[in-house]
Amino acid sequence: MEEIKKEEEKSLNFIEEIIEEDLRSGKQTSIVTRFPPEPNGYLHIGHATSICLNFGLTKKYPGYTNLRFDDTNPVTEETEYVESIKQDVKWLGVEWKNELYASDYFDQLYQFAIKLIEKGLAYVEDSSSEEIAKMKGTPTEAGKASPYRDRSVQENLDLFQRMKAGEFPDGSKTLRAKIDMASPNMLMRDPLLYRIKHAHHHRTGDKWCIYPMYDFAHGQSDSIEHVTHSICTLEFVPHRELYDWMIEKLEIFPSHQYEFARRNLTYTVMSKRKLLQLVNEKHVSGWDDPRMPTISGLRRRGYTPESIWDFFNRTGIAKRDNIIDVSLLEFCIREHLNKIASRRMVVFDPLKIVITNYDQAEEWLPSENNPEDGQNSTRDVPFSRELYIEREDFMESPPKKFFRLAPGQKVRLKSAYIIQCDDVIKNADGTIAELHCTYLPESKSGSGPGIKVQGTLHWVSVKHAIPLELKLYDRLFKVEDPSNEEGDFKDYINPDSLRIIPHAYAEPSLKEARLNERYQFLRKGYFCLDKESSDDKLVFNQTVTLKDTWAKEQKKN
Ligand code: ATP
Ligand code: MG
Repeated sequence: MEEIKKEEEKSLNFIEEIIEEDLRSGKQTSIVTRFPPEPNGYLHIGHATSICLNFGLTKKYPGYTNLRFDDTNPVTEETEYVESIKQDVKWLGVEWKNELYASDYFDQLYQFAIKLIEKGLAYVEDSSSEEIAKMKGTPTEAGKASPYRDRSVQENLDLFQRMKAGEFPDGSKTLRAKIDMASPNMLMRDPLLYRIKHAHHHRTGDKWCIYPMYDFAHGQSDSIEHVTHSICTLEFVPHRELYDWMIEKLEIFPSHQYEFARRNLTYTVMSKRKLLQLVNEKHVSGWDDPRMPTISGLRRRGYTPESIWDFFNRTGIAKRDNIIDVSLLEFCIREHLNKIASRRMVVFDPLKIVITNYDQAEEWLPSENNPEDGQNSTRDVPFSRELYIEREDFMESPPKKFFRLAPGQKVRLKSAYIIQCDDVIKNADGTIAELHCTYLPESKSGSGPGIKVQGTLHWVSVKHAIPLELKLYDRLFKVEDPSNEEGDFKDYINPDSLRIIPHAYAEPSLKEARLNERYQFLRKGYFCLDKESSDDKLVFNQTVTLKDTWAKEQKKN
């Protein structure tokens, strides 16, 4: 028992350690976390890490998690993003306690600003942003006080109220905290709290023409919601001092900020700004293009929420920036799909074979749907005289150990019979037109021990085959970390990241394919139906290959 306990303790991440200590010491009896996306783009796998972390903590410990839209910047935000974010969070299988908007706090934040002014801790600044930057100093050299720094409380209150009333144009005035122009932390050198922006907001409309800056909105929103553990990424470490300063001076609920390393993945980019460029410049078909690292892209590609959680649990969280190999994400989805995907037969590049001794019209043979799920369920697959096999599964003059089809050689057709290739029929130009084969009637699958052969091939019956379009995906970028290369990250886009197979042939059961079902096309890979499929045209996306061929190929090159 002691041993097991130690194991558990070892696997705590550093935030869990902090929380356990807070609960043990009685500092907290329950916790509140939040996931605070800015609705200026679709969520990506990095955000998924933050979601799994925040919601995972309140699953494990008493408390709850809020979904808070950090919508204090009126210009970049759109309702479309709000909707997509909610959909993606839900899809990951978590439930937020409250759906909140930082913009709902605009009145309260305004009152907080008044309080700071009244305490002599904030002032209205008339200098332009260039002048402010010039007076800021450098990390080794103190900044200079603004000529407006010592305005009276009365004057500040009057000016701030008039800023709110819309009397001044954009950029002409700001509200600044009065902290310390000599602080070694540049963010403490009288940071901006409010700016004037005559812009329409997606929720508050035209009510406001002054908007709070991140540092004035975020911590206070946490505090209003009584967030106990406000978890963000490492770039906010220098902001923590300011976060604490605000809470102390405003005398409000003491939320605390904790930082962890951003989740980065190889062969992709992960900033919404860059992803937006890929969308706007049509390098991809949209935010949910299956090559995108967005949650909606991964979903359309066939990823499952379980695989994303598995990925999160395997990678954990770090205190230092790092980049995770995308092969690990692919490993996680492969593991899950192996357990849940329905097996189907699809021929990508058909070669026709004629079973010359097969005299029946057709027969329907049972084939197991998934040998891994313990259900033993089957579907019937039609077998007839004319079949397609994969062109690459035949060789006229095979090397040794080619256990597929060749003249005089035998193979098993999956869930059907053993066949032997007797004749290769050629076109006038010497290419292969079709193969003539014979089957062994006594070799029917499941009919007990008989002749053994080494190879088993997938196949489909010609007259029953249904056409599919297949979309095969490769990495979106040619280099591991496109954001860290010279020049523009878009110079490193992989031109071959999408390959389309316009005419593949599938067993007829795929006519009933459903969007949320996952499939393994035997010997080929994992696939799912694409949302743009219609009854006339079935389109499937390749989620991932069966094996990690990428790593092997890289070694060869
Ligand atoms: P981006 O730089 O991609 O635009 P962001 O940080 O501006 O991301 P937000 O909408 O502000 O995106 O992020 C919401 C939450 O998700 C924040 O708490 C943020 O720290 C977290 N987050 C964003 N990107 C990552 C990432 N790559 N890894 C882990 N957490 C992330
Ligand atoms: Mg942000």
